[in-house]
Amino acid sequence: MNVSKYELVIVGAGVVGMGAALAASKQGIKKILIVDRHHACTGASIRNFGFITITGLRQKIMQERSLRSRDIWLDIIKKSKITINHRGLYLLAQHKESIPVLEEYLKVDSRSTVRLLTKQEMESQHPLFKKNNNYGGLFSSDEVRIEPRLAIPAVANYLRSIGIDFLWREEVLDFNHRYIITQKRKIFFNKLIMAPGNHLKGLGRDIFEKKKIQSSKLHMLRIMPDKKVKLPGGIMADLTLMRYPGYENLPSKKKLDKVIQKECRAELDQGIHVIVVQGKDGSLTIGDSHHYTIDSHYPFENEVVDKLILNRFNHILPIGSYQVVERWVGEYPSGKNDYLDHWIDKHICIANVTTGIGMSTGFAFAEDVISKFS
Ligand SMILES: Cc1cc2nc3c(=O)[nH]c(=O)nc-3n(C[C@H](O)[C@H](O)[C@H](O)COP(=O)(O)OP(=O)(O)OC[C@H]3O[C@@H](n4cnc5c(N)ncnc54)[C@H](O)[C@@H]3O)c2cc1C
Repeated sequence: MNVSKYELVIVGAGVVGMGAALAASKQGIKKILIVDRHHACTGASIRNFGFITITGLRQKIMQERSLRSRDIWLDIIKKSKITINHRGLYLLAQHKESIPVLEEYLKVDSRSTVRLLTKQEMESQHPLFKKNNNYGGLFSSDEVRIEPRLAIPAVANYLRSIGIDFLWREEVLDFNHRYIITQKRKIFFNKLIMAPGNHLKGLGRDIFEKKKIQSSKLHMLRIMPDKKVKLPGGIMADLTLMRYPGYENLPSKKKLDKVIQKECRAELDQGIHVIVVQGKDGSLTIGDSHHYTIDSHYPFENEVVDKLILNRFNHILPIGSYQVVERWVGEYPSGKNDYLDHWIDKHICIANVTTGIGMSTGFAFAEDVISKFS
């Protein structure tokens, strides 16, 4: 069996694992290795919207982590020539009951970069916003959209260029206080971070079971409009107010809940809210739904879910005809708390973003984990 030694070994080449490597390298840690069981990251980090979301996140830690992560993303984007597809977020209020919720939200979110748009202001932003019966909504200029299937490999390349090693196609089967074991080798470490994402039945299984971490499965689609359309930014609408934690305790939300529960029962039953972002080729990525389990997900995807997502999309952005060009599902871990950093001893940590916000906050979370090493 091959044997080697690293100062820091990281299991998992997703956004959390790579964020930890970057933070450690900035701290001056030398000899860092990232091990992944696949030939590349194939997990949640390449399956999401690539939308670095700031608006609607829980105050204060989650939003602070999103702003910090966004800045880390911008730095890597510059250094790795990753394309930004668009900036900013438009949250369209298609129910009048959403407006008081957004007004209350703005009293909690103190950024100068987020504001309420009247119906007229919203309609002036894009011709499609004149066609979709909105009452105005929120605009934030902070959000950034990149294509995750291109950006995540680009981040790995960047890390390689600053001296971080990768070991692909090797699953870490076990570990003790001194080394990890893959099917081919032992690797000794001084520090170990396990960032396995939704792989909840492998390393750290006991912890995930004890903390009742579930797997959340999401349906995603990519469509190509028949007639060219250019979005001014990422798009969300009222159903997001039902899901994002930043809106959950606002007093006016009770009234909105009643209206949406009556009108969108089917969507709520499938955990659907709609986010739309655009790629360089003009295609739109649309999602998502949420189904939770502590076991393995039912392997058969019900077309009803995709139809509901697309119907809601048509209502939000009436772009005319289009072709569905891709469908996929993605999974992320979901727990009572937003993050899990479980320290087995002062040198070994299991790090997981246990709500679906790791693309937006994972870099800063990983940085915080690294700063806890003594
Ligand atoms: C469809 C979808 C939409 C999403 N939308 C958003 C969004 O809008 N905004 C947002 O901020 N976040 C979003 N997320 C969440 C975000 O993608 C995740 O929180 C984030 O990518 C988690 O990163 P990670 O590094 O923890 O996990 P992953 O990206 O899953 O990476 C974990 C890696 O660990 C490897 N691994 C696991 N076990 C082992 C082992 N034993 N040995 C070796 N390798 C191992 C896996 O192969 C994998 O590459 C979404 C997620 C999904 C699925």
